[in-house]
Amino acid sequence: MKFVYADNAATTKMSEASKQALIQTIDNYGNPSSLHNMGVKAFYAIDEARNKIAKALGSAGNELYFTSGGSESDNWAIKGFAENMKKKGKNHIISSAFEHHGILHTLSALEKQGFEVTYLPVYQDGYVRIDDLKAAITDKTGLVTIMYANNEIGTIQPISEIGSVCREKGIVFHTDAVQAVGHVEIDVKKQNIDLLSLSAHKFHGPKGIGALYIRKGILLSNLLEGGAQERGKRAGTENTASVVAAAVALEEALTDLDEKNKRVAAMRDRLIDGLLKIERSRLNGSRSPRLAGNVSVCFEGVEGEALLLSLDLVGISASSGSACTSGSLDPSHVLLALGLPHEIAHGSLRLSLSEYNSEEDVDYILSVIPGIIERLRDMSPVWEDIKENESKETKDTKKDN
Ligand SMILES: *Cc1c(COP(=O)(O)O)cnc(C)c1O
Repeated sequence: MKFVYADNAATTKMSEASKQALIQTIDNYGNPSSLHNMGVKAFYAIDEARNKIAKALGSAGNELYFTSGGSESDNWAIKGFAENMKKKGKNHIISSAFEHHGILHTLSALEKQGFEVTYLPVYQDGYVRIDDLKAAITDKTGLVTIMYANNEIGTIQPISEIGSVCREKGIVFHTDAVQAVGHVEIDVKKQNIDLLSLSAHKFHGPKGIGALYIRKGILLSNLLEGGAQERGKRAGTENTASVVAAAVALEEALTDLDEKNKRVAAMRDRLIDGLLKIERSRLNGSRSPRLAGNVSVCFEGVEGEALLLSLDLVGISASSGSACTSGSLDPSHVLLALGLPHEIAHGSLRLSLSEYNSEEDVDYILSVIPGIIERLRDMSPVWEDIKENESKETKDTKKDN
């Protein structure tokens, strides 16, 4: 049976170069804090990797702090800066309704402590509006946190514009760029980004390693107390091998990025066009600007979970809603934020491609999905109702004529 991995927004396969870097660096086992030769060797390996990643983002090495991944960076950025806000008498944070749970759950924790949060709407096209942002700002606003690209529907937010507004108003701007780093060009200085979260396993690096960019001058409380690692802000002996492998993965991801994105986007568009030929299907979010690999569609009268299981049986790994919520029966908060009704949001499918996918993968997906949808709809009482209403409506229009 053919196997197609189309769940790259959940995680990616490690690139060969990143894997080799990881394996080789494991032998570089010295503690980077040790003063002997082995320690110094590890210290320099980390230093080099830090500078490489920082440079790729347009920042300086001493503005990049390694963490265990996207969730940790998100938590640190928000909780760490909230402490600082309190001292300045500010208690208002602006975010969006369709952030990753790493952001949303962190914000609800802060709300319980008395912070106020405004969640900007994202509308049917899947973007926040600058006018809404401007209208939400008060003299109590200290932080804006808006994701770079959405993990479920792939829409890329107007990050540079948000950055300018925040800089002008003296508000700190954090972006969860976990879906964007390694996939789009980012320049934290040009885009006026103060805090940025990234995670290596979303760009063909290892799991359990990420980073938070903290612009020089932005004060965050320490994440972990202990040793002096990460300039005393995040204690714990460094994961040298993963750090090095992450830098290798990012460098590789950004090589010939435009070319790769063009090829992946062409596969994405062919998938979208093919899937939208199925009756009562719709694309979630606007087509552009959208991550090159993201396809998110809803099929009326189909249960997302059932669709996923059927796809898995024919060797296709995909996702319905967010990977973190699959297993729960609540429809995705992202699709609800777009204004989709519950019953439609239930029938969602996310196919996320990478440069490791091929045109044959797209052919294969398009060859099996229509039949699966038809079979699932044949068994669905919801679909029966939809068809019944449809025929009633046609009769009514005929009568009117
Ligand atoms: C995957 C993801 C995260 C979480 O990253 P981890 O490294 O898995 O903790 C956070 N935000 C977004 C947008 C993501 O896609």
